[in-house]
Amino acid sequence: MPFPSAATADDDASRLADWLSRHRRIFVLTGAGCSTASGIPGYRGDDGRWTRPPPVTWQGFTGDPAVYRRYWARSHVGWPRFERARPNQAHHALALLGARGPLSLVVTQNVDGLHQRAGSEAVIDLHGRLDAVVCLGCGVRRPRASLQEQLDLLNPGWSPGPAAAAPDGDADIAEEAEHAYVPPHCPDCTGLLKPDVVFFGENVPRARYLAACDALELADAMLVAGSSLMVYSGFRFARMAHERGLPLAVLNRGVTRADALAGLRLEGDLGNTLARAAQLLGAA
Ligand SMILES: [Zn+2]
Repeated sequence: MPFPSAATADDDASRLADWLSRHRRIFVLTGAGCSTASGIPGYRGDDGRWTRPPPVTWQGFTGDPAVYRRYWARSHVGWPRFERARPNQAHHALALLGARGPLSLVVTQNVDGLHQRAGSEAVIDLHGRLDAVVCLGCGVRRPRASLQEQLDLLNPGWSPGPAAAAPDGDADIAEEAEHAYVPPHCPDCTGLLKPDVVFFGENVPRARYLAACDALELADAMLVAGSSLMVYSGFRFARMAHERGLPLAVLNRGVTRADALAGLRLEGDLGNTLARAAQLLGAA
């Protein structure tokens, strides 16, 4: 597919600005497409299909020591790059549209905290945050950053070999390197340590889900930015919005599960479109 021309980009931005200006309390749902420009790869291609092996499941992580070891070996390598990621113009534009425009709440499927870093104040991290780790034994929560040193100490001289960045602070490394890895456990109770994110096969915590539902109740429109909505926990909000008769706009490169429900559907560059629309609305 050719890149959209400048004229198309301007047209997208003015259509979006027009749509935004017609609403006062917009519920926003964001996904991986919001963070790719920050150097965090997504899991899916433009057709909504997996471009890589599906991520770790809750069942594997808690039930299979090899999966647990594999997760931490890869996280050890992927974390520094993930931690360095900074918000891009999509995050900044959404923050401006929240502070000076019609966006009332951002519900994100991303686990990177970049909306908050960009200054968005009302954010629900639907799938949790990668910058915290929880002990499944005693429940103690620790910053992920403080664990990196423990991982180094547990694995002196360990070398992952050539590594490639993968989604959500993960990295592709050689299988032999995974086998040689010593994963961390809770220093207090020796329990399993899990990043504070919702794994595949696990439910979004009920209170978090209900808080997002409450916000949708108060909204007069819904905007999807950078998500194919292939995961049900995100798609259900688009369906609820549709059932309530709320106008739905979808900004995403490639197909989404809500295309048939969307009154406005834009495929151009997310960051440019949002930034230009914010400008047109005088929020930038
Ligand atoms: Zn513990």
